[in-house]
Amino acid sequence: MGIATINPATGETVKTFEALTPNEINEKLAIAQSCFETYRKSAIAQKSEWLHNAANILERNSTEYGEIMTLEMGKPIKGAIAEAKKCAWVCRYYADNAADFLADVPAESDGSQAFIRYQPLGAVLAVMPWNFPFWQVFRFAAPNLMAGNVGLLKHASNVPQCALKIEEIIRDAGFPEGAFQTLLIGSEAVEQVINDACVKAATLTGSEPAGASLASAAGKQIKKTLLELGGSDPFVVLESADLDEAVAAGTTARMLNNGQSCIAAKRFIVVESIADEFERKMTERFKSLKIGDPTLEETDLGPLATSSILQDLDEQVQKSIEMGAKAVIGGQPLKDRPGNFYPPTILTNIPSGSPAEKEEFFGPVALLFRVKNIDDAIALANDTPFGLGASGWTQNEQERDRLINELEAGAVFINGLVKSDPRIPFGGIKRSGYGRELGIQGIHEFVNVKTVWVK
Ligand code: NDP
Repeated sequence: MGIATINPATGETVKTFEALTPNEINEKLAIAQSCFETYRKSAIAQKSEWLHNAANILERNSTEYGEIMTLEMGKPIKGAIAEAKKCAWVCRYYADNAADFLADVPAESDGSQAFIRYQPLGAVLAVMPWNFPFWQVFRFAAPNLMAGNVGLLKHASNVPQCALKIEEIIRDAGFPEGAFQTLLIGSEAVEQVINDACVKAATLTGSEPAGASLASAAGKQIKKTLLELGGSDPFVVLESADLDEAVAAGTTARMLNNGQSCIAAKRFIVVESIADEFERKMTERFKSLKIGDPTLEETDLGPLATSSILQDLDEQVQKSIEMGAKAVIGGQPLKDRPGNFYPPTILTNIPSGSPAEKEEFFGPVALLFRVKNIDDAIALANDTPFGLGASGWTQNEQERDRLINELEAGAVFINGLVKSDPRIPFGGIKRSGYGRELGIQGIHEFVNVKTVWVK
C-alpha cells in the first residue's frame, strides 16, 4: 500500500501522496543536521515559548485536527478532538518542566566538583503508528524538542495528512526550519534514514516485526532505540471489586479508539464467583454502544483503521471459535455496510493454543477468562509474551499489594484503567518493548548524560 488517505468508514481513497526519493530524503537530513547545530544552543526559555505556542495552536484548532484524524483512521470525533487537546497538555508539561528535568545534577567524587549535564544527541527518528496519530508524535516531539534534539517523523502510511499537519503546527509555533520534519516515506526507506550519520537514535511505536526491524538496523549502527510495541493487557477482577465500576471502566478500556490501543484491556481475568455477573453486565454495556459514522458526536465505535486490521482480527476470532471459543456477543465483521466495521465482541471458553489465548487482538474484542483465585489470576495475567500495562480490581489491601508486586508489566493501575499521562512514565517490558516515554524518564531517553569532573 502506498502513502494515502483512505477513509476507513467508506473505503474511499481520498488522496494519494508521492513518497520522497532517496535524494529528497538526503536533503531533509542535511536540513536537520544544519538546524541541530544552532538549535542545540537555543535557550530553554525560547524553546519553552515555542512549545507553549504549539500547545495554543493545538487547542485552538482541535476540531480541525480531530476531523483529519477521524477521516484518516476512523476514530470517533469526540476522542479525536480530545486527542488534539491532550497533545496541548504534553507540550505545556514539558515546556514548564524541562528546565528542571535537564538541570545539572551534582554528584560526589574525589574532584573539587562533579556533576551530570544533560545534552542533546542530534536528530532522532520517530517511526509512528496510526492509532493515536497526533498523541504518539507529540509525546515524542515535546520532550525531545525541549532537550535540544531535532525530530524526523516517519508516520504510518495511512495518516499522511496528520503527519504534514503536525509538521506545520511545529513550524507555525516558531521552531526553526528543520527542528521537526515529516518524511513521507514507506517503511523500506527507514534504513536509509537510520544509517545516515546525522541520525543519532530512533524510537518506534507499532508492531513487533517493525520494532525488531528498526532495532536491528539501528543496532548495526550502534544507535540507541526505544520501542513501544504491542500488548495484551490483563484486566484482573477479584471478588471484592466494585463490579459496576469495573465493568464500566473495562468497557471503556477495551473500546477506546475502536479497540485499537496498545494499552487497551484485552484479557479480562475474572474470579469464578463473580464471573457470570461480570459477563452479563459487560454484555449489556457492549450492546448499548453506538457503532457507526465516526464523524458524529454520538458514535462510540467507528471502523477499524484499515481493511487489513479488520481481516487480521476476523481471522483471529474465527480461528479461536473453530477451536472452541464462544462468542457471547458479536464475532463477525458487519457486512451490511461499506467500511471496516467490527462489532463489540466478547469471547469466552477460550481454549489453550488458540489465538485468543496468546495473541494481541487489535479491535473491539474482549477475551474473558474465568479463574479460581488470585494465584491463578496472576499466573494467567503473566502468561503472555507481552508486558505493557495491567489493571487490577480489588478493595483488599493485601490483594492490591500482590497485584502491584507480581504483575509483569510496565505499569499497574489499581481500580482504574491503564492510561497515559504526561506526568508519569509509559512503556513496557518483555515483548512490549523497552525504554520509557513521558515523565522525567521520557526526556532522559535521548540525551547525553555527560559526566563532568573538575580537579
Ligand atoms: P506497523 O508496526 O506495521 O506500523 C507502525 C509503524 O511502523 C508505521 O509507521 C509503519 O510504516 C512502520 N513500519 C512497519 N514496518 C516497518 C519496518 N520493517 N521498518 C521500519 N518501520 C516499519 O503496524 P500496523 O499498522 O501494520 O499494525 C499491525 C499491528 O501492530 C496491530 O495489529 C497491532 O498489534 C500493532 N500496533 C501496535 C501499536 C501500538 O500502539 N503499540 C500501534 C499500531 C499497531 P508503514 O505504515 O509505512 O508500514
